[in-house]
Amino acid sequence: MTATRAPRRIVVVGASAAGLTAAETLRREGYDGALTLLGKEPHLPYDRPPLSKQVLAGEWTAARTRLRHPEEVAALGLDLRLGTAATALSPASRTVTLMDGEDIGWDAVLIATGVRPRRLPWCGLPGTHVLRHLEDALALRERLAADSRLVIVGAGFLGSEVASSARALGARVTLVEPAPVPLARVVGHQVGAHIARLHRGHGVDLRTGTAVTGVETAAGRLTGVRLSDATTVPADDVLVAIGSEPATDWLTGSGLRLDDGVVCDAYNSAAPGVYAAGDVARWHNPLFGTSMRLEHRTNAAEQAMAAARHLLHPEPARPFAPVPYFWTDQYGIRVQAYGHLRDHEEARVVAGDPADGRFLVAYRKGRTLVGALSFGLPPKTLRPWRTAVAARADWTASTQPP
Ligand SMILES: Cc1cc2nc3c(=O)[nH]c(=O)nc-3n(C[C@H](O)[C@H](O)[C@H](O)COP(=O)(O)OP(=O)(O)OC[C@H]3O[C@@H](n4cnc5c(N)ncnc54)[C@H](O)[C@@H]3O)c2cc1C
Repeated sequence: MTATRAPRRIVVVGASAAGLTAAETLRREGYDGALTLLGKEPHLPYDRPPLSKQVLAGEWTAARTRLRHPEEVAALGLDLRLGTAATALSPASRTVTLMDGEDIGWDAVLIATGVRPRRLPWCGLPGTHVLRHLEDALALRERLAADSRLVIVGAGFLGSEVASSARALGARVTLVEPAPVPLARVVGHQVGAHIARLHRGHGVDLRTGTAVTGVETAAGRLTGVRLSDATTVPADDVLVAIGSEPATDWLTGSGLRLDDGVVCDAYNSAAPGVYAAGDVARWHNPLFGTSMRLEHRTNAAEQAMAAARHLLHPEPARPFAPVPYFWTDQYGIRVQAYGHLRDHEEARVVAGDPADGRFLVAYRKGRTLVGALSFGLPPKTLRPWRTAVAARADWTASTQPP
């Protein structure tokens, strides 16, 4: 699915990691036509991974999260509209509608609107938080202090990182997770169990196999959460970290296929002249033979580059077939992974030992090596595994002791 003639008006919707990278790639590839970058937030593009780490820990100021200096953004020659949400897209009339009713015409549009946090019915009560935006991180940071009581709902990557940052500030943290082992579905039982031990070793009250059933309030403010084991945990603040959903509500009625993301082909295209990248985009990754949507910082940039290139040069096109990569930092330990771990059928420790806190895990699906994760090891340890995953290496051959 491609645009038929060279575009002269391009609109990028979403001014964060993917949107900014797309705009930069378009300019770098020589596109000198009109380029509008729309961002709902009032800020210049900033980075989200530090929000749960350095910003929450008070190590970075908000300004340090900026992805580019204002002069670098200005040099792109954009029609930059911050604090401006797109409310509709019409592939038929080739327009994007803005919140003030203005229609902007386009020859090609790139959707990079990311995700928004899932919420619970009581989110919005004073004392409840989600963490996606800079303001969310600053508001939570403001509330964390030695002995303040934080309950985190959901022990995924985000909840785990916040638990780690909050403990470093001396807060009392209860982490509530319905699954028996945190993150086991994504990274396997051994890695999840190790993360659970880390939490407990750092003084987090981790409650697994437990769901939040309600909240206690006094004078309209949250004072605690009720759990499925009939206990109540008193809280000054509650962070709801139960995952995200693609920000596609503004695309309802556009005719685009929306199915847990904007559904694209292997060339990042959702319809003629319409492309998508970053957390919002779902596509078929031919390397793994499966449809995926990633919420990884590196993918946001790589996919935006690929989408911008496909937009400008539809022929010859190479499918977007990356080996996904993510990292997470918890308790001063870096965890890194390559591949598509989510559907794995086996996870095996192939180097190091979880008991020492430094180890490498390989992931199998069928007879193929589909991913590898390193816990507390130097990045170079993982690189040969990335190459093997990219080559769709045979499991037995790759995991045999040397
Ligand atoms: C706290 C936190 C920590 C993270 N840590 C890691 C990590 O350690 N490692 C890792 O790999 N990944 C991490 N991530 C994920 C990573 O930040 C995302 O993958 C990345 O930000 C995705 O970029 P994006 O541009 O696709 O989407 P987003 O960053 O979500 O940006 C989308 C932008 O579009 C805007 N927008 C939405 N709707 C509209 C609209 N209708 N009109 C105009 N603009 C709109 C939004 O306001 C937003 O600014 C983390 C994320 C968070 C929140």
